[in-house]
Amino acid sequence: MTTRLLYGISELTTNDPTVGDGSAMGRLTDAALILDEEAVVWVGPAEEAPAADSARDLGGRAVIPGFVDSHTHLVFAGERSDEFEARLAGRPYDGGGIGRTVAATRAASPEELLVAAAGRQRLLARGGVTTLEVKSGYELTVEGEVRSLEVAALLTEEVTFLGAHVVPAEFAQDRDAYVALVAGEMLTACAPRARWADVFCDTGAFSVDEARTILTAARQHGLGLRLHGNQLGPGSGVALAVELQAASVDHCTHLSDDDVAALAGSATVATLLPGAEFFSGGPPPSARRLLDAGATVALATDCNPGTSYLTSMTTALWLAVREMQMTPDEALWAATAGGARALCRSDVGVLGVGARADLVILDAPRAAHLAYRFGDVIEEVMTAHGPPGASRVPA
Ligand SMILES: [Zn+2]
Repeated sequence: MTTRLLYGISELTTNDPTVGDGSAMGRLTDAALILDEEAVVWVGPAEEAPAADSARDLGGRAVIPGFVDSHTHLVFAGERSDEFEARLAGRPYDGGGIGRTVAATRAASPEELLVAAAGRQRLLARGGVTTLEVKSGYELTVEGEVRSLEVAALLTEEVTFLGAHVVPAEFAQDRDAYVALVAGEMLTACAPRARWADVFCDTGAFSVDEARTILTAARQHGLGLRLHGNQLGPGSGVALAVELQAASVDHCTHLSDDDVAALAGSATVATLLPGAEFFSGGPPPSARRLLDAGATVALATDCNPGTSYLTSMTTALWLAVREMQMTPDEALWAATAGGARALCRSDVGVLGVGARADLVILDAPRAAHLAYRFGDVIEEVMTAHGPPGASRVPA
């Protein structure tokens, strides 16, 4: 394999505590990296860098691992800007609008879904996302959820079955039948096409008992578990996620002291989605409280048409710093290594030796500029597997 030396790195963030300054950020100044086609093969001070097949001077720019966006709903049709305008005029979000996206998504052709989802993926990738998770959840029929997962699988290997996003209108009078469908026939059809199962466990969505039924069945099909929990109000979603040893519980907006303690004492990642609160005008979750307790925190976009049409991880990072009391370094770690933890991945979100060669070159001397400057500071995105955002979908 050919090797490439990148030197002239003013500040390198590796998220590998065995590298550099010994902090969680694994930081080096005046650094160099050597990559082969797939992975990082050397990291260290530039003056100690061995020879490589080619060399490139980054001219005093900072380098960070590619962002890991561990929570997106990219596969959907239509848009709901009118709902956003109504909310700005004072109407609160109650979760009911998902039905509109379900109708639009069911009516779209597979090609339309592919092109729309791939377009959103390209925006995320241009902004530095090199690994992303994509959920189904806007068709809510056996055939439709399979179709959405097949679209998602063209974009990423981190595919999540979210048949339990909302109870569709045709089951409004018999939600037990829908839960049985999701945990039965739908799961059987979808499990081979997904790595993860997720449930929207909240007020107006699925109860804790329903979520437990679905997630327990999903685990029996070999899927990893994730949960939308405690977004719209206090509840037992976080407790259930910890009980089931889910990889991640996402939103965590309304947490009791017991929830915080449970997360801190578990391997379940608290994935915070600051775009959702910014978009809906609700109170942001307190990352500070979770971090001070010792919980692992990730940041993601929650890109979806109803509550967070966000296609920029940098913006999520700004919001986390300004609204959720995270330091710039904590936010950067959460958006890279934290997202990787939430997906149980050790090969991404880090730039130690052996990590995937996915990185972002900043047009800035320090990574803190991601939060310090309101604007795009991303110079270039490099990935091990072709250009960022590459998929089998034509542009
Ligand atoms: Zn979500």
